[in-house]
Amino acid sequence: MLLPKFEYHEPTTLEEALRLLSELGGNAKVLAGGTDVLVRMKQKIDKPSHVISIARVPGLDAITPRDRHGVTVGSGVTAADLARHELIRDRFTPLALAAGRLGAPMIRNRATIGGNLVNARPAADFPPACMVLNAILKLKSAHDEREVPVNGFFRGPGDALIEPHELLVSINFETPPPWSGGSYVKLGARKTLEISMVNVAALVTLESADGPITAARIALGAVAPTPVRAYAAEELLVGKQPSEELFQQAGETGVGMCSPITDHRGTMEYRCMMIEVLTKRALRLAVEQARAWRP
Ligand SMILES: Cc1cc2nc3c(=O)[nH]c(=O)nc-3n(C[C@H](O)[C@H](O)[C@H](O)COP(=O)(O)OP(=O)(O)OC[C@H]3O[C@@H](n4cnc5c(N)ncnc54)[C@H](O)[C@@H]3O)c2cc1C
Repeated sequence: MLLPKFEYHEPTTLEEALRLLSELGGNAKVLAGGTDVLVRMKQKIDKPSHVISIARVPGLDAITPRDRHGVTVGSGVTAADLARHELIRDRFTPLALAAGRLGAPMIRNRATIGGNLVNARPAADFPPACMVLNAILKLKSAHDEREVPVNGFFRGPGDALIEPHELLVSINFETPPPWSGGSYVKLGARKTLEISMVNVAALVTLESADGPITAARIALGAVAPTPVRAYAAEELLVGKQPSEELFQQAGETGVGMCSPITDHRGTMEYRCMMIEVLTKRALRLAVEQARAWRP
């Protein structure tokens, strides 16, 4: 399949990229890793007259720690880079695990976190991980700049709170407090190169190694038109001692937050069962990591 005709732009500064976006507006598509946009262009779903590559814009591929308070991840950082980054693996574990489960090695080497978030697919790997880490997205246009919490960024399948003249520049994460642990589990029909049938990210904070849960966040993907936070399940966990029974209750509550569909990847009933099972597993893994927390 051939790509439709378009004019190609390769800005070398952020200012130039933003100026092009502002001038070309709805006629242009940003190209990051290209693993989504080029497929859609080949399938003639997207037919932009201009393509703006951001590959040569400096800084977008940087992972920058902010003292001990957090980390700023450029929108052009690839899944492969996130999966192997030591700080991300240790302190922002759901993000590293989600990155390691996206596609296969060749895709991970190109696919960026920015492209995955802007694409806003309900089954994508990065959104639930970013949601439990309460990520803040920095969007820039030629004349403006704004910060948008990832919890609220997704409006529907393929629809996110970003305008055609805006660029997602970076994603900010606060370091979770001491005695926190996180996890990400994904179910697909195959082990690799598979879009999720259900995916779950969890972040749990304990009072101490053997103390009760003081905070919990759970995000579910592929279970509704957008990824969702399971707020009722989170509330149920707070103040309680972690146990299999508690995780089971949280899993059952999580099912109530979802409206999964039946499609070629799985039936609605199967997805509901899996939400319960995966939520339980994600919580168990997050608590294990929280108990092993080291300064
Ligand atoms: C074989 C295959 C397997 C896949 N497996 C998975 C999987 O397991 N899990 C999963 O979640 N996804 C999967 N995908 C989808 C895709 O790889 C991911 O969504 C990827 O993260 C997209 O990133 P990208 O850099 O390639 O985005 P691109 O294709 O370059 O862009 C995607 C969209 O985002 C826009 N965009 C990109 N960057 C920015 C920015 N900084 N600011 C504003 N707009 C921007 C583009 O204009 C476009 O609309 C798969 C794709 C393929 C082809």
